Amino acid sequence: MIDSRIATLREMLNASRRAVVFTGAGISTESGIPDFRSPGGIWTKYQPIEFSDFLASKEMRREAWRRKIGADETLTRAEPNRGHRAIAHLVNQGKATSVITQNIDGLHQRSGVPDEKVIELHGNTTYAACLQCEHRYELAPIFAAFKVDEEPPVCDECGGFVKTATISFGQQMPFEAMRRAQLETDACDLFLAIGSSLVVYPAASFPIRAKQNGARLVILNRERTGLDGIADLVLKLEIGPTLGSMTGVQ
Ligand SMILES: [Zn+2]
Repeated sequence: MIDSRIATLREMLNASRRAVVFTGAGISTESGIPDFRSPGGIWTKYQPIEFSDFLASKEMRREAWRRKIGADETLTRAEPNRGHRAIAHLVNQGKATSVITQNIDGLHQRSGVPDEKVIELHGNTTYAACLQCEHRYELAPIFAAFKVDEEPPVCDECGGFVKTATISFGQQMPFEAMRRAQLETDACDLFLAIGSSLVVYPAASFPIRAKQNGARLVILNRERTGLDGIADLVLKLEIGPTLGSMTGVQ
């Protein structure tokens, strides 16, 4: 028998004309990717490298790339899970117009959500880019060269520093992604916040904005969140099984 709360979520989706999905680390922990902020997560082991330090110090750039190579195995082994697949189903059925994500792992795209429908607030760690001219670089050749002499990579085109395409601490939020996320939030009538504790700003401002614009807010997260009090429906459940049984996706 289907949980009555999941049935309620399904009814809300059926009634919606334009839903938006917002995801945080919780959906990817079910794929084995650690939540950076959780106990034992990467940020409790290392002090994060501030963007200004990356720019200022070659030794910091070297350290950033050492860490990236060390952490990358977990990421490349991770596969999209049932929650990702259910969300891809909602997008491809036209139920959800886009996925706004705090995650940098690229698993929404790999689960079948078209690139142009994923809005990445914190960038993407599965490739790198030049900080100056934004030329894209794949990781494998960078890793191979770095392992030879530990020289931090620079851009072939312009000589700028090459960094994973993520937003570091102290780095400005990506203007275009923020703008698109705001437009989608303003246009939706149902906002599904999934796997996020909704405490980090500016990300947490989107569900509030959706509510203020009259959309209904659903929160699906294993633990309580900062915005449970304003939600129309709160589901403290596992993400994959919940979305899977709601959509019928395995
Ligand atoms: Zn460049």
